[in-house]
Amino acid sequence: MPREKKVEEYDVVIIGGGAAGMTAGIYCGRARLKTLIIEMALVGGLATYTNEIENYPGFPEGSTGLGLMELFQQQTKKFDVKFKGTDVKSVELEGEVKIVETFRTTYKAKVVIIASGGRPRITNAENEEEFLFDKGISFCATCDAAANTDKDVLIIGSGDAAIEEGMFLTKFANKVYISIMHEDGKMDCNEIAKSEACENSKMEFIWNTVVKRFEGDNHLRTVVLENLRTGEEIPIDIDTCFEFIGYIPNTEIFKDQICLSERGYVLVNDKMETNIEGVFSAGDVNEKFLKQIATAVGDGAVAGYAAERYIAETAQYSSQILTRDHFVYVYDASCVNCQNRLREIEALEVETNGKISFSKVDVYKSKGLSNRMGVSVFPSIAVVRSGEIVDVLTDDFSRVRLESYL
Ligand SMILES: Cc1cc2nc3c(=O)[nH]c(=O)nc-3n(C[C@H](O)[C@H](O)[C@H](O)COP(=O)(O)OP(=O)(O)OC[C@H]3O[C@@H](n4cnc5c(N)ncnc54)[C@H](O)[C@@H]3O)c2cc1C
Repeated sequence: MPREKKVEEYDVVIIGGGAAGMTAGIYCGRARLKTLIIEMALVGGLATYTNEIENYPGFPEGSTGLGLMELFQQQTKKFDVKFKGTDVKSVELEGEVKIVETFRTTYKAKVVIIASGGRPRITNAENEEEFLFDKGISFCATCDAAANTDKDVLIIGSGDAAIEEGMFLTKFANKVYISIMHEDGKMDCNEIAKSEACENSKMEFIWNTVVKRFEGDNHLRTVVLENLRTGEEIPIDIDTCFEFIGYIPNTEIFKDQICLSERGYVLVNDKMETNIEGVFSAGDVNEKFLKQIATAVGDGAVAGYAAERYIAETAQYSSQILTRDHFVYVYDASCVNCQNRLREIEALEVETNGKISFSKVDVYKSKGLSNRMGVSVFPSIAVVRSGEIVDVLTDDFSRVRLESYL
């Protein structure tokens, strides 16, 4: 008989325990929200793939990816955020209660933060599947450098990750071949990495090439490259092939619910809000200009803060706005017309001995609350009757008009 699934409730469930997810966790935990991070692989995400991180502020001597991510995790745990090591299979994100399904447990949450990052892209060349990961094709120099001491390796790609990880591999390997699809001398990495790599005698560039096929027995032995100009096949005998040719976003489980870009990345606004209320998204999984730890941290902070605001505003909406029949004056405290009309309605409260009275919502502080009331013009008066907004007045705030609702 199938085992009954456990049900657990949280304020916030974060999918993905990389830099973005953990930063969002720190903000949510610190706001005393009951928060869970679900991570299917190594806590720390892609940053743990890299040996040297020199551009994350606060570490003038640099840090290893693993070391930095361990510090992130320590700080996240300090705020009582729970970690669960499993993968999210499916989600139901519409409505006030979000459902996140794992193999054993159904999680219910007020907010879901997507921080599922991406995974390495592969070449799709012949026989590639046979040699992935421990059979000779690697995506992580940090993980596999030592095992390649005094051996020959091949790198595919010429971006920052390819060249920087290639430089790192020269400390271990005998020879580091680099297959680059561009013309001689053209690389996708930054200029500093390029000049360092060109000066390194252990590196050998093979220009104008792509992978045609992988060959070996039960382990990769040879990568056959193809020269794009001549069609010539170039067999390279190596022990490990490292592929650094970009990433694919981990968005398959969200694709029917969340708006994605053409490339499959999540589309968000500046508050990391997705198209669904109460669902935020942060880090490399988002369509954005720069995918780095510093930007993942920035996104995570915004998503965590926005999640806290969303939960607070939802509670305020149901406990203070909808619970009684009244009028809500929705205004922008910085606008002169709103200030004048505030005086007008306060005079009305006095004139009617409180028969007409108002709650006040300043949109500067509570934009989400005004959105929830369906108010987009300021000032407005929302009319609440029997737990519903029945009207929104934008112009006529007269006593006669307001009394017509009593
Ligand atoms: C080789 C390499 C070198 C790099 N060097 C640098 C550098 O020097 N400096 C720098 O700033 N950045 C660097 N980066 C980029 C940096 O690592 C990323 O920008 C950063 O890790 C993004 O963090 P993230 O939290 O958005 O995503 P990720 O780190 O990708 O984390 C996402 C996490 O979500 C998990 N996940 C996905 N789907 C699910 C699911 N269904 N259920 C549960 N968990 C799930 C994944 O397992 C993963 O751990 C490098 C990246 C690589 C690969």
